[in-house]
Amino acid sequence: MVYLDANASEPLRPEARAAVLAALESPGNPSSIHAAGRAARRRLEAARETLAARFGAAPEDVVFTSGATEADALAIHGLGDGRRVIAGATEHDAVRAAAPGAEILPVDGAGVADLAALERLLASGPPALVCLMLANNETGTIQPVTAAAALCRRHGARLHVDAVQAAGRMPVDLGALGATSLALSSHKLGGPAGAGALLLAPEAAAALAPLIRGGGQERGRRGGTPPLPAIAGFAAAAAAAGDAAALAPLRDAAEAAARAAGAVVIGAAAPRLANTTCLALPGAAAETQVIALDLAGIAISAGAACSSGKVAASHVLAAMGLGELARCAIRVSLPWNATDTDIADFAAAYAAMAARIARRAA
Ligand code: PLP
Repeated sequence: MVYLDANASEPLRPEARAAVLAALESPGNPSSIHAAGRAARRRLEAARETLAARFGAAPEDVVFTSGATEADALAIHGLGDGRRVIAGATEHDAVRAAAPGAEILPVDGAGVADLAALERLLASGPPALVCLMLANNETGTIQPVTAAAALCRRHGARLHVDAVQAAGRMPVDLGALGATSLALSSHKLGGPAGAGALLLAPEAAAALAPLIRGGGQERGRRGGTPPLPAIAGFAAAAAAAGDAAALAPLRDAAEAAARAAGAVVIGAAAPRLANTTCLALPGAAAETQVIALDLAGIAISAGAACSSGKVAASHVLAAMGLGELARCAIRVSLPWNATDTDIADFAAAYAAMAARIARRAA
């Protein structure tokens, strides 16, 4: 199988696997005071320090969660403080579901947030909590987060950044971005599923209200025994992940092959993650393409979500104004270990699929 669905889950990195196994073999709860508990505590704090150093936060301001869905929800509920919420139109459902009444910040045709609209929204009412992702999971589009953070500061707003797809693929530093909080997910950067984190800027650390109370873990900010093997794997993966720059030539080769077969590259005008491309093949339903490529041994995903047997165009592509083309889009996302051969196999399968679909339509 050729796995080109890294934005769903990255393959486990060997460093992460080793760290998970080592933690699994060591008993002990970080809250226990005996030697085994203290060893577990050291492992937990080492992971916290690794993530803090890697992503520009203070170790005491890293809150471990079960994943990024929880980290996004913790930021929105825990830093909301009764504020109104403004959310980018292409945010992940983890954000959308946690802020159902959010005012929507529009994007342009390449998926980039409209900063003039953000400034108008910020000026139009009381202090807000703004949610703007660093890189989009469907298109790879990178948002102007540093500029948005400056606007937010000027208007007394907080800025939560979902950095799930950016982490390990481009520089991510909470302090340098100037954001209030940052959500991360282990399995999106080559660690195991089951761990994530919310990183807080110092001024947010005192303001955060917990979502899950319990035994006082995570300084009272997230109750529950932390999943140490997953957290150890998360930190090891984060330390091993550089950026995805080396994947750019492979992604470009995949795009060139798809274009030659009739595809349109969505969001090509915007700065994008080096591992992600969203390809629309006019007239070919996304689910038909996913199945055809799966039969050819290529794992990719649709740029559209299926619900109740119907395929709904993705809100991301709809916000970009793609209309019917949105139903014809697939996402190809290269994992950290993608090879030239993977891309050659994808190119051959894509060309054969496009030719078959064109023959059928003729
Ligand atoms: N945010 C983005 C941008 C994502 O792509 C995802 C997962 O697809 C999430 C949040 C949720 O992450 P998790 O699977 O860790 O809950």
